[in-house]
Amino acid sequence: MIRNNMVEHCYIHVPFCKSICYYCDFCHVQYNRDLVKEWLNALKDEFNHYPINNHLKTVYIGGGTPTSLEDDLLKELLELIKPYTSNVDEYTIEINPETLTLSKVLLLKEYGINRVSIGIQAYQEHLLKMMNRKHTFEDVRNTVSLLKNNGITNIAVDIIYSLPTQTMDDLKETMEHVLNLKPSHVSIYSLQIEEGTVFYQKGIEPLDEDLEADMYDYLCDYLKEHGYEQYEISNFSLPDKQSKHNLAYWHYKDFYGFSCGASGKENHARYDHTKNIKDYLKNPFYREEIPLTQKDEMFEMVMMSLRLVKGLSKKEFQDKYNISIDEVYGKVNENLIKQGLLIEDEESISCSEKGFPILNTILEYYLD
Ligand code: SF4
Repeated sequence: MIRNNMVEHCYIHVPFCKSICYYCDFCHVQYNRDLVKEWLNALKDEFNHYPINNHLKTVYIGGGTPTSLEDDLLKELLELIKPYTSNVDEYTIEINPETLTLSKVLLLKEYGINRVSIGIQAYQEHLLKMMNRKHTFEDVRNTVSLLKNNGITNIAVDIIYSLPTQTMDDLKETMEHVLNLKPSHVSIYSLQIEEGTVFYQKGIEPLDEDLEADMYDYLCDYLKEHGYEQYEISNFSLPDKQSKHNLAYWHYKDFYGFSCGASGKENHARYDHTKNIKDYLKNPFYREEIPLTQKDEMFEMVMMSLRLVKGLSKKEFQDKYNISIDEVYGKVNENLIKQGLLIEDEESISCSEKGFPILNTILEYYLD
């Protein structure tokens, strides 16, 4: 693969977790200090093998649970990334509430992390236990205070809805407590029961689809009423607090991906690292590359951009492919606009309110 030296976004996956959540199908392994040390060496090798530029604007350390690393190992990780962060505008790390201590917050601060993303998921203890989450809402409150008291105020939170046995009242109670924390960004995800998860193995059934749709509508209304602007299907923020890193994905920009479980996209190819830590440790340079034709790319750009409330920028499409969206997808767009599923103005094409909930169906038209 030819390296794109102008890439501005970088994702680093930390695959370690202290315990495994029953819904999780991300790349994760049980925390083990010796394994973390081996992984850090492999990651160092990967960074040396694929040198990256100093133009990065966003860095996102996700997981897994990056803050499960003990202080010395977390410091080693942050030190490894440091050479690439001098021009970074948004530097995010994911946090699980039970893993954050004052010394770790001070480390995050020292290395310039200016945004955190906390997995809250729900308020009620019985729901947290059902998911095998190891924190309480009190831990969440303490984590938020610890961060704010030490100057990290750009705090994003994740919520899961449509959990087994969850009622609309449970969700309302969760949201009341969540907004009391005054986060700058809220992501809402409906539970997906994926193969390979503990929920799947236990035969847990998803909630009724109608209730799930009602929960989504409630969340959108509630967040908007409280000053959070929806900018993507599942994401809401206070003014100017949108996730710059995630916006890069939705605008179909190139990004680097490091470590097992991470994906990247550069110069007309996507690549995936293995999700198996042992394979990664054996060969941290290996990535499965999937070349993208222009047709693939144009479809993927539509797919990603239609997730945004603002939709697809016609200019960005034209600049990228040297052809207008009308010439490529004019008939599909016309048909979808007639059905009331898309809206078009001079600058963009976006989903209507009717279209948003059935985005996957809309995308099938583009595939045809
Ligand atoms: S949801 Fe996050 S914390 Fe839980 S097992 Fe998955 S990666 Fe680890």
